[in-house]
Amino acid sequence: MSAPLPFNRPPLTGRELENLRDVLQRRELAGNGTYTQACQDWLKARLGVAEALLTQSCTAALEMAAILCGLAPGDEVIMPSFTFVSTANAVVLRGAVPVFVDVRGDTLNIDEKLIEAAITPRTKAIFVVHYAGVPCEMDAVNEIARTHGLVVVEDAAQALLSTYNERQAGALGDIACFSFHDSKNVVSGEGGALVIKRADFVERAHVLWEKGTNRKAFLKGEVDKYTWVDVGSSFLPSELTAAFLGAQLEYADDITRDRLATWEFYHHAFAELERRSNQIVRPVVPPKVRHNGHLYYLLLRDGASRDATIERLRVGGIVAPFHYVPLHSAPAGVKFCRTSGSLAITDDVAARLIRLPLWYGIGDLAGRVVEAVSREVLR
Ligand SMILES: *Cc1c(COP(=O)(O)O)cnc(C)c1O
Repeated sequence: MSAPLPFNRPPLTGRELENLRDVLQRRELAGNGTYTQACQDWLKARLGVAEALLTQSCTAALEMAAILCGLAPGDEVIMPSFTFVSTANAVVLRGAVPVFVDVRGDTLNIDEKLIEAAITPRTKAIFVVHYAGVPCEMDAVNEIARTHGLVVVEDAAQALLSTYNERQAGALGDIACFSFHDSKNVVSGEGGALVIKRADFVERAHVLWEKGTNRKAFLKGEVDKYTWVDVGSSFLPSELTAAFLGAQLEYADDITRDRLATWEFYHHAFAELERRSNQIVRPVVPPKVRHNGHLYYLLLRDGASRDATIERLRVGGIVAPFHYVPLHSAPAGVKFCRTSGSLAITDDVAARLIRLPLWYGIGDLAGRVVEAVSREVLR
């Protein structure tokens, strides 16, 4: 039998080694050098934001965002439970409490209509997650935030180059966090970025990034001593990571195009099966959204058929995993978080969802996935 078809295969553009060799030649290994600047300039220009800072991960960027929100112990942050642990962990690390609301049954993004009911006098922020690279209903989210004086943070880990009403994901709230982890569209092994739309957060973000020091002001000659002025950590990646990322960002449009072509191939191929079988539901993309082909998923009939399908695809040599265990039902979620209202849709879709292999250059192999999934659904 042929080798198993992996769920993910990180892209390589062919420019990575050249950039890494250049870093070695310059002997400029620590962070905030030439390649870091170039990547940050790329992000700022493409997204149209006030500032972009590379980080070690999206997890680190979310931790910075939680500090910028000024979260204190007992404060609350509204977010979906259907997300990766880092969205909630960043809040818990400040002593604050994630408050989970349900997702929409179509996009699996936070249900904006449930946010207002979750607001209390302790609410400080809304952390939205653009699942599968499909942006949330940000006009409604921003309107609620404006009314109640809340900060809006986008967990845009999956959403690089997606748009909502022609505006880039990452420029839709006050602060956004991106991931360049191995499993995302554009990668640097581990890596991320904090992106800031609201100008009044920029100065403090630099201080947090540089271990709580005023190194930026010092480098600009604004102060004569470089010293400890605030909390912070070592959030910045080395130039080796930034150089690798630079070689990827250069090809970000190509990578996105290729992924979208595979996404559309799946979507078209499964349209008939959805109609005919009544056993699967395809993803929904609202008309005001252009997404980045990050992820193709299907919702199967129920949890049992989902689990059986994953297992039979695995035996047939195709890796098609489930996704999140909802955070409200995870041990740490029970301990540190609370829920607002029913999370019935979250529980339902988490049990029925299957993700299909989708990566840069998958090409005709996607046809094998369609055949295998169709066989399973119609059996
Ligand atoms: C991948 C991901 C993260 C974490 O990204 P890292 O760069 O691995 O820290 C956070 N949130 C979401 C929604 C993700 O998909």
